[in-house]
Amino acid sequence: MSRRVTFLVAAALAASLANGAGPERNEAKPAQAPQKLDRAGQADRIFVNGRVWTGEPGRPLAEALAVRGTTILAVGSSADVRGHSAKGTEVVDLRGRFVAPGFIDGHLHLLGGSLSLEELRLDDAFTFAALTGRVRDWAAAHPDAHWVTGEGWAYAAFPAGLPSRAQLDAVVANRPAWLVSYDGHTGWANSMALRLASVTRETKDPAGGEIVRDEKGEPTGALKESAMDLVERLVPKLLPHEKERVLRNGIAQAAAWGLTSVHQAGIDAEELELLASVLEAVPRLRVYAALDIERDPTPDALARQEELRRRFSEGRLRVGAVKGYVDGVVEAKTAAMFEPYPGGGTGLPNWTQEELDRAVAAYDQAGWQVMLHAIGDRGIDMALTAFERAARANGTTGRRHRVEHMEVARTADLPRFKAAGVIASTQAMFPYPNQNHLGVYVPTLGPERARRAMAFKAIDDAGAVQSFGSDWPVFTAEVVRGIACAVTRTTVEGTPAGGWEPSQRLTAEAALRHFTRDAAFAEHAETTKGTLTPGKLADFVVLSQDLLAVAPERIKDTKALLTVLGGHDTWRAKEF
Ligand SMILES: [Zn+2]
Repeated sequence: MSRRVTFLVAAALAASLANGAGPERNEAKPAQAPQKLDRAGQADRIFVNGRVWTGEPGRPLAEALAVRGTTILAVGSSADVRGHSAKGTEVVDLRGRFVAPGFIDGHLHLLGGSLSLEELRLDDAFTFAALTGRVRDWAAAHPDAHWVTGEGWAYAAFPAGLPSRAQLDAVVANRPAWLVSYDGHTGWANSMALRLASVTRETKDPAGGEIVRDEKGEPTGALKESAMDLVERLVPKLLPHEKERVLRNGIAQAAAWGLTSVHQAGIDAEELELLASVLEAVPRLRVYAALDIERDPTPDALARQEELRRRFSEGRLRVGAVKGYVDGVVEAKTAAMFEPYPGGGTGLPNWTQEELDRAVAAYDQAGWQVMLHAIGDRGIDMALTAFERAARANGTTGRRHRVEHMEVARTADLPRFKAAGVIASTQAMFPYPNQNHLGVYVPTLGPERARRAMAFKAIDDAGAVQSFGSDWPVFTAEVVRGIACAVTRTTVEGTPAGGWEPSQRLTAEAALRHFTRDAAFAEHAETTKGTLTPGKLADFVVLSQDLLAVAPERIKDTKALLTVLGGHDTWRAKEF
């Protein structure tokens, strides 16, 4: 999902992050710079008197760690670690604070997420009045914007079905308006936007998409899947320098959430270059990027992608995967299912099994990791089948192919993940039981099927490696919110009592593991990060609360106080 736009007004948050007191000032402090010490074993910085969750199964808890240069020198008791201090070593007293490996978001969209910090966001506006009120306010506050564009509306705001252009015309009539649903799979246009896009009753549905029509055949203003492009392509694109500014703010925000690494789920060559230059200038995040998959990976196409993989094979930006879409989403009934949705339809797979097998086998053969968005049980089966067949045909192992989102798998398919070494790349906040989830998602699936959706505990119990992500901007990339959701399966207000499908709740430690060690494994980087282990990168986060001890309903209030990336501070809260 890469979106748009003309928002030239930086949000207060973004501005404060860009100019803020935090990271830049800290990076300039001489104490942060690795010093040349004569004796190996002398630390640049030691952090003592903490509660350090290492992520190492053998010794999960320690009190202190020592950093030398960009890596961890020692982990252990405060007394042991003090043994590494010498003249010039900075000693940080953690005063009992909780330390974890730097958070790794296993699936997000960095530019889209960064944009969401400043664009019109419609999340959590679950009533029609709240939603249209937010659009009206934004339009009034941005009289110079040529388009009114936004993202994040919930299907729950339209109990009678999908939104209509007439509803949007009543709010914005004098300029085009285009609002994308929170899952990115349905767009809502006003009449002027449809007119500019020349979408009329004569316009045919594009392959893999639908122009929703009324009983007379007139477009209603709702466009599904590939039909969204009809309007989307007209929305003014951000200029490169605007994208750069947006990305810098997003990266600063990610560091403030305790993130040290993220997996970019799909990127084109142009955006990759931009990201590379921004990460050069703002070295506050590591990014593992998946290129957009080629449906027909010819030798030429593979060679072009291979060149990018070679160029970005090490350092803060790495390319190692390709990402494609097997199906759509539940809410739009485009996720591919074995059994029909209530009311009919079994979804829209974007490939035949044969096409998918062919593309996956070509990438597998060439040593790529393949990430496939698959949400319905049939889509997930198709992805697993393609991975299994590729390994068999090519005689390959250890590619760690991934099913992204993996929402509604058949219970019988769960053991296939471990057997085939396939990663379950799930999103910790997807079961967030707000009105959209309970009022639209669950009924669209039907109660029996909904029970096996986002079954995080069952996935763990089946022995799969489960990597957690956010799908930012679909949900916030604030990791503690994801951990809170996986542990409680409630909203921040604590509803529903006891949690939605509480048998699938995880311990905080399991959720932490999925956001650190398992996400590192999912990017083939477990030897360099994901746990606090001597010799690995000094990527870690100091938190305001002990995630393993705090009451589950308070996890969401946890703040990152200090984020360290390769030994350097990328975020420091005022109170630390
Ligand atoms: Zn995504």
